[in-house]
Amino acid sequence: MEQPGINARAQHILDSVFGYPAFRGQQAEIVEQIALGGDALVLMPTGGGKSLCYQIPALLREGVGVVVSPLIALMQDQVDALDEVGVRAAYLNSTQSFDEMVQTERKLRRGELDLVYVAPERLMTPRCLELLESSKIALFAIDEAHCVSQWGHDFRPEYIKLSVLHERFPEVPRIALTATADQQTREEIIERLQLQNALQFVSSFDRPNIRYQIVEKANARKQLLDFIENEHPGDAGIVYCLSRKKVEEVAEFLNASGVTALPYHAGMETATRSANQSRFLREESIVMVATIAFGMGIDKPDVRFVCHLDLPKSIEGYYQETGRAGRDGAPANAWMAYGLQDVVQQRRMIDQSEADDGFKRVQGAKLDAMLGLCETLSCRRVRLLEYFGQGASPCGNCDTCLNPPVSFDATVPVQKLLSAIYRVDQRFGAMHVMDVLRGVDSDKIKQWQHEQLSVFGIGAERGDAEWRAILRQAIAMGLVAVDHDSFNALKLTDAARPVLRGEKKILLREYQKPVSQRKKGVKP
Ligand code: ADP
Ligand code: ZN
Repeated sequence: MEQPGINARAQHILDSVFGYPAFRGQQAEIVEQIALGGDALVLMPTGGGKSLCYQIPALLREGVGVVVSPLIALMQDQVDALDEVGVRAAYLNSTQSFDEMVQTERKLRRGELDLVYVAPERLMTPRCLELLESSKIALFAIDEAHCVSQWGHDFRPEYIKLSVLHERFPEVPRIALTATADQQTREEIIERLQLQNALQFVSSFDRPNIRYQIVEKANARKQLLDFIENEHPGDAGIVYCLSRKKVEEVAEFLNASGVTALPYHAGMETATRSANQSRFLREESIVMVATIAFGMGIDKPDVRFVCHLDLPKSIEGYYQETGRAGRDGAPANAWMAYGLQDVVQQRRMIDQSEADDGFKRVQGAKLDAMLGLCETLSCRRVRLLEYFGQGASPCGNCDTCLNPPVSFDATVPVQKLLSAIYRVDQRFGAMHVMDVLRGVDSDKIKQWQHEQLSVFGIGAERGDAEWRAILRQAIAMGLVAVDHDSFNALKLTDAARPVLRGEKKILLREYQKPVSQRKKGVKP
């Protein structure tokens, strides 16, 4: 009788082992490519179903599938889950005892495993490489492949050394998987892992059930509380903050306001941290307040909202973090409060980092793209997907679609702002420049006799918040720079000149007073 084809056998395993009736998206093609011995680079959003793309080929091919993953904490769960469906799996990482390690090694040598998960630093040891050379290997799966990118936010130095797999095991097919990679990261993965002959599988990055909202920051904590109370009472969610201190403070604030919140950051005791994580996974309505240390590989389908109280460094980070909402496909919210201080702070972090100029340039470009998303007057989803190289039309499910921002010709106010910065010799920070514009007679104004400047009070028609919004956009557009080496003084860039000369028109987002969403009588 004729052997069934590779696709039929894959389908059979999908059904009989994993219990799923059909492949999703490009899974079938990816499985075929690897099962037949080819290489692949797979870009699939979180929750898209990357695991089956290497698990099934590992079962189809002779030998053990070696999965390289930096997520040591998840290996036990992954192995348990495979165990449950009868797949012979084990792992090798620093958390296991010597006996356990020896046992796994023995099984490997005897060909008694279908899949083995290995931490990259373990894989690189001579002991492990020799072990693999004496075993029959079905494939290498390199999970979280973006960790190879030095520009990325999850860079792992050991990942760079993974090119050794191609050199030492040229016959073994390799599949690199990631949920987050722009064109540049993609090229870096290909180059560093030597995947030049790999087929690329890029899935749609759209998460239609996520509603994107970016609001103007006024009183961020209160805005956050209003958002949770009005739109997500009793729901599970994640609130991202930049610093550990802020994580603690916001968690405390939410608890004091009647929202059950837990902190999570890398500075906490491991035991507390994992206890908080388990509670979040197990219970239904916990709000996790966390730094970006939280979430990689977290599989909780019913996270209903993800909030950002600080600006992420890049669109990749934003997308990955917001992507943890609504993995079950039901409506979910991605909400962010964003303001002038965020722009200044992120720019400063880049300027003051120890990195070389090339790195800073890339980080700066990533931040600019993120700012573009925050300031856009058109559909957020279109901007987001464009960044990942995917076209789309206005979605109807983001704040700019639902509530189109009003833009206005801001050439004159921006000229006033630029002139004020120039007239104070580019030596003063935002507060002082705002005071000059609005004609506030503060001590500092008197001290410098700035009330005598021609620009003093030329912007009295606008309030402080409005001017800050204009300044924020001017910084985001690159017309104004903040000199972090000189007390955050505002400076004009070359791009400011044509605007000052009236050669360039500037369109800005109309300032909207943050309306408290709080309904009367809900809670004092
Ligand atoms: P990723 O690694 O891309 O984040 P996973 O591989 O963890 O995603 O898969 C996410 C979820 O989708 C898992 O619960 C998985 O069992 C489920 N899944 C994956 N592929 C299929 C499929 N073809 N049919 C049904 N469920 C699937
Ligand atoms: Zn939209």
